Amino acid sequence: MAAPLTDQEKRKQISIRGIVGVENVAELKKGFNRHLHFTLVKDRNVATPRDYYFALAHTVRDHLVGRWIRTQQFYYETDPKRVYYLSLEFYMGRTLQNTMINLGLQNACDEAIYQLGLDMEDLEEMEEDAGLGNGGLGRLAACFLDSMATLGLAAYGYGIRYEYGIFNQKIKNGWQVEEADDWLRHGNPWEKARPEYMLPVHFYGRVEESKEGAKWVDTQVVLAMPYDTPIPGYMNNTVNTMRLWSARAPNDFNLMDFNVGDYIQAVLDRNLAENISRVLYPNDNFFEGKELRLKQEYFVVAATLQDIIRRFKNSKKGFSGPVSFDSFPEKVAIQLNDTHPAMAIPELMRVFVDIEKLDWDTAWAITKRTFAYTNHTVLPEALERWPIGLLETLLPRHLQIIYRINQGHLDEISALFPEDMDRMRRMSLIEEDGGKRVNMAHLCIVGSHAVNGVAEIHSNIIKTDVFRDFSELEPEKFQNKTNGITPRRWLLLCNPGLAELIAEAIGEEYVKDLSQLQKLNELVDDDTFIRDVSKVKQDNKEKFSQYLEKEYMVEINPSSMFDVHVKRIHEYKRQLLNCLHIVTMYNRIRKNPKAPFVPRTVIIGGKAAPGYHMAKMIIKLITAVGEVVNKDPVVGSKLKVIYLENYRVSLAEKVIPATDLSEQISTAGTEASGTGNMKFMLNGALTIGTMDGANVEMAEEAGEENMFIFGMRVEDVAEMDAQGYDAMTYYQKIPELKQAIDQINSGFFCPKQPELFKDVTNMLFNHDRFKVFADYEDYIKCQEKVNELYQNPREWTKMVIKNIAASGKFSSDRTITDYATEVWGVEPTDLKIPPPNEPREALDETARALREK
Ligand SMILES: *Cc1c(COP(=O)(O)O)cnc(C)c1O
Repeated sequence: MAAPLTDQEKRKQISIRGIVGVENVAELKKGFNRHLHFTLVKDRNVATPRDYYFALAHTVRDHLVGRWIRTQQFYYETDPKRVYYLSLEFYMGRTLQNTMINLGLQNACDEAIYQLGLDMEDLEEMEEDAGLGNGGLGRLAACFLDSMATLGLAAYGYGIRYEYGIFNQKIKNGWQVEEADDWLRHGNPWEKARPEYMLPVHFYGRVEESKEGAKWVDTQVVLAMPYDTPIPGYMNNTVNTMRLWSARAPNDFNLMDFNVGDYIQAVLDRNLAENISRVLYPNDNFFEGKELRLKQEYFVVAATLQDIIRRFKNSKKGFSGPVSFDSFPEKVAIQLNDTHPAMAIPELMRVFVDIEKLDWDTAWAITKRTFAYTNHTVLPEALERWPIGLLETLLPRHLQIIYRINQGHLDEISALFPEDMDRMRRMSLIEEDGGKRVNMAHLCIVGSHAVNGVAEIHSNIIKTDVFRDFSELEPEKFQNKTNGITPRRWLLLCNPGLAELIAEAIGEEYVKDLSQLQKLNELVDDDTFIRDVSKVKQDNKEKFSQYLEKEYMVEINPSSMFDVHVKRIHEYKRQLLNCLHIVTMYNRIRKNPKAPFVPRTVIIGGKAAPGYHMAKMIIKLITAVGEVVNKDPVVGSKLKVIYLENYRVSLAEKVIPATDLSEQISTAGTEASGTGNMKFMLNGALTIGTMDGANVEMAEEAGEENMFIFGMRVEDVAEMDAQGYDAMTYYQKIPELKQAIDQINSGFFCPKQPELFKDVTNMLFNHDRFKVFADYEDYIKCQEKVNELYQNPREWTKMVIKNIAASGKFSSDRTITDYATEVWGVEPTDLKIPPPNEPREALDETARALREK
């Protein structure tokens, strides 16, 4: 028997990551040494691991530059329709390994770094996550950028370059403590500042009416400085741009009139303007109506639209006469990632009407054909409703425009539904009850030609429930676009062992066409394949165990079932239901210590919004339960509870490939799609979940018998809402539930502060919007079925293979193809832009081929 391969050797074997080539490796080593010397100004005696990371990052970056410039030239010359993805969040994570993979440089870089006597994984660990997002919505934007580049779309991501991303979470005494995420401290080798393209953004002021029309005057100006990040497609030489704006004070800021004489104070006050891009708001699925947040939303929108319009006009070079905007919707598609960039709608109207002097109706028709809106949640507390007073002060002209849009909108409704005053009230952009507010979702629906939900079930809820009146008015507007994830990061990058195993079985094409995973169905009874799949999982579990031991000094049993629940902490995601299962398992072990028990390691992780009290109590409860369970000698190695600190993209990449059981247990009708669920499915975990979000479609693809589905369906939840949910009846009827709740309530898990969890139990009894007790019994029973199957490793792994084979639908390549053809009116292409070392004619050839398609 040969000695087991080291990680280094395993990575070398992997074929889908580019050809090594001796000259290639030599060139990379030269580049690395050159950057260590000239860019970092270090030699190998004084260089730190971070210096080595930066040297490699710059070396890899050099391979992007030519492709980036050429791609942008290509777009300029062929002038295709541009797609603009506007988002307040891009949760990118790390960039180095993703770039090497998409450029096919991974193997060559591995070899170069190895020959230099360094460890690739150590270098990769030096990179900070770009944590410019909260959770699913921001990560979706990042996956979409990868897919848009891979599908050759002329696409741009536009957002904010937050100086501080999502906070770092520390767990101290079982409580969450937040720390600032100073991610730019050591510099960001992936961005290029473009001060020459800086643009002004106006705030406050007043509206001056004259016969020439309205004019927004006496405004305060903040400058938007663009930072560009290259977005490489997978092995197609395409490199798109993500442009993030940073706020800069103008050099005359506060120095003009009233502040003369206080030069020092005026310079210090520059911070006020620059605070706009200081920090990401850490709320997931929650609206907090703060002025600074509204400033952020308008800031990104105003700067981006100037850029879009400049690019549109520039493409008209050579044409004489005034620019016509008639073709604008044929050249520009703007996708709004939730309502966060909704002010783009009144802003485009302002530019068209006040500046470009288009008449209102023409401007409105163009605007509607340009925008499309994606809804991400139906939770009422998440829907943006900005107070009129705030808008009036900060953006007075936009408020006027919103009123005028609303006027036309209500006129249309009253023509179709005369006298239906209640319908008018329900559909108005302006809500009147309890302080006037602008309903941003209504604004987006009215201002867009397409509105979509992010999974079938969610799109149906939108049509029949939250936006029912709107879908009655314009049913053809409403669509579904089920979310997806990029298989490059969420398989090739995070799970090289599985990616390679699949490539050996079905070839490499699946990376660009994930539906080909279906071919794995032919191997569900193949003993060798079953063994290999289970071996990859075991290796991943061992590697993750070692990581936990090294970083956190916690020891876990890699042969136990890894039961993982990682996502933002939220009542609707029901981490509390999982917690009740843990307590129930604990009680069963204590009641019957000799009985056989399927060993489990329950891993829960996620950040709570700093202002969300109940979410923070949930974290404390989980850690308190863990403390008791993990220390109980009766339990031993049968059950362990780990709170995974600081869950983020780079940690997701480690834990997901090591997972046996994926927890997706939201109350039916509350999780719009989920994307975590898809990552686990692709990486060979089985899912225990409710019929919610994309879980429903996962069950459809894999067959319900291949998932652990439990709990109420949406119809059951609706019925219960009508009848009235009474937590107490479940508590009294189910002895194990009663026991668990009594323990939590009486301080069993925190004897020093027995009252600590009263808020939690009080909520569960008296105002639990998410009906934890109602699904408890079915959840526990379902977990028993999980145990049963886990005791039969062969059957377990067969089900895993069926799930992987069924996960092709959940590639974001499929999602983006659907947006492209059904919303944006552009065609994806599998054409490869010729690399920079080929002559220019090759580019023209590609352009011709594209025109002929
Ligand atoms: C995918 C992902 C999410 C979204 O997870 P859900 O389970 O869909 O809520 C959140 N955070 C990170 C870091 C992710 O990678």
